[in-house]
Amino acid sequence: MENKTTGTINPSWLDPNSIKYKPWASISTNGGTRIYCTWCNKDLLIDSLYGATGHLRNPEHVKNQQKWDDEQKSSNLPDLHLNKIKLFEIDLCSILIQLKLPFSSVDPILEFIKKYAHSAIVQNSSLTRKKAAELIKFEIEEKCVQKVQEKLEKTNFSIIIDEVSDISKKKFFAIMVQYFDESEGIVCKLLALKECSL
Ligand SMILES: [Zn+2]
Repeated sequence: MENKTTGTINPSWLDPNSIKYKPWASISTNGGTRIYCTWCNKDLLIDSLYGATGHLRNPEHVKNQQKWDDEQKSSNLPDLHLNKIKLFEIDLCSILIQLKLPFSSVDPILEFIKKYAHSAIVQNSSLTRKKAAELIKFEIEEKCVQKVQEKLEKTNFSIIIDEVSDISKKKFFAIMVQYFDESEGIVCKLLALKECSL
């Protein structure tokens, strides 16, 4: 029998932001005095002196660490990763628009997705209602307007101006255009929304 004093799992080891532990450490099914290494597929006894750090020097683990580092470098090129996060956020905003959901629903929806989706793209997203409004304005709306403008250069259209108000009682002028599209028929698209100062 091994006469070794043991430590217990430190919850901070499982913190998603822990660089030292999180990539490999997970809860052991054999109790809190053990930790499971998903890289080495090993259930480890936590040594009281070193916690779980002793395992970090294990040659097999060092090899796996190297492999993981290399994968991170090739798959997580910072720009590419940021781009993927942005695409995810634009996608999520598009769904909000399609379902006519308010920007404020971004926070609970993202929180829900993060709870179950462990992809680094989802976990690193920092979409908030404010950021969603900006993304819609600068990424989605501008692209849509650009498409409409391109269309208007080639077809006859009529302009419709309407006054609308939002929940904060602010008044806006909605400038819409109506034109004929070969595939969609008669369409009416929003071209701009300007706050009315009157
Ligand atoms: Zn390991």
